[in-house]
Amino acid sequence: MLADVKSNGAVLLGMDVVADSYWPRIIRVVTHAHSDHLMGINRSIKESLFIVATEVTHRFLDVLGYKVPSEKRLSLDYNKSFSVESEVITLVPSRHIAGSAQVLVESREYRVGYTGDFKLPGTPPLEGLDILVIDATYGSPRLQRRWGEWDALAALINIIEDNIASGPVWLYGYNGKLQEIMVELRRRGVSYPFLADESTLKLARIAAEFYGTDIGEVDLYHGQEVDYSAIIFMHTTRRRYKRRLPGVHVVLTGWEMRAPAVRVDDNVYNVSFSDHASFKEVIEYVEEARPKMLIIDSYRGKDAWFTAKYVERILGIPAIPRPRGAPSGGD
Ligand SMILES: [Zn+2]
Repeated sequence: MLADVKSNGAVLLGMDVVADSYWPRIIRVVTHAHSDHLMGINRSIKESLFIVATEVTHRFLDVLGYKVPSEKRLSLDYNKSFSVESEVITLVPSRHIAGSAQVLVESREYRVGYTGDFKLPGTPPLEGLDILVIDATYGSPRLQRRWGEWDALAALINIIEDNIASGPVWLYGYNGKLQEIMVELRRRGVSYPFLADESTLKLARIAAEFYGTDIGEVDLYHGQEVDYSAIIFMHTTRRRYKRRLPGVHVVLTGWEMRAPAVRVDDNVYNVSFSDHASFKEVIEYVEEARPKMLIIDSYRGKDAWFTAKYVERILGIPAIPRPRGAPSGGD
């Protein structure tokens, strides 16, 4: 098959390309710097000829401590192509985190593509494909949120405004999401000082350049006590060490389905802020892209079997989940 998703999450495209996990192929593409798309990267760095990603993603990898030797580091601008053997590889923009990309692999005989993680609007559909591999993190209507990302952002700003007079507001999220939120808050005139741990801060400087927004004052948080009005950005894995500290703690999560913001403890909120297309938007993408065949990534998405059935019945496009029966949820 000219495209597939293997049981380790490797997305195979054409003959020579693998994206987002390890497979013995000469080109390893990294669609973006989330951990569920970086699997086996060190082995790929050893064995592949090139590690292909946007310049922003390569810079993110540097900050996260991955060492891609310069002779293997191939930074590809959006919509610029690179040929290897009989195939042409192109990275197409996707709106997910700074630097994220879709992948297009073309030859004389075939044209296949992979969305990587994406949200809508802002991700142009890959059209005219023989096979499209799609991320469907929310693969069925039971995972459909009833509000948009702007509602979640508004809810977050309300929580900040209501609480910041009495001390810090802590925000926890994944790399990429935190930096996007920094940018969105500054764009909306939230001018309180930001604090962030070292890698969150370095990623933020790169992301701010990518988004073309000045994120203003951001200081390094190195464990000091904070008793003033500030917003502190932390990787989500650190929240259990921090949530007893004074202030209000906000977890940015794509899996809060009850409301844009939910108070889960005295001083703890979940804000439902997803970086993925909703189920409806996944279908909208497929409808516009109209591939001859669809593969739904069931390694990273939930309910991929449902997406497949729905696409076949409603859009009349042959669709299969791959690899079968591997339920999970992505960053
Ligand atoms: Zn992601």
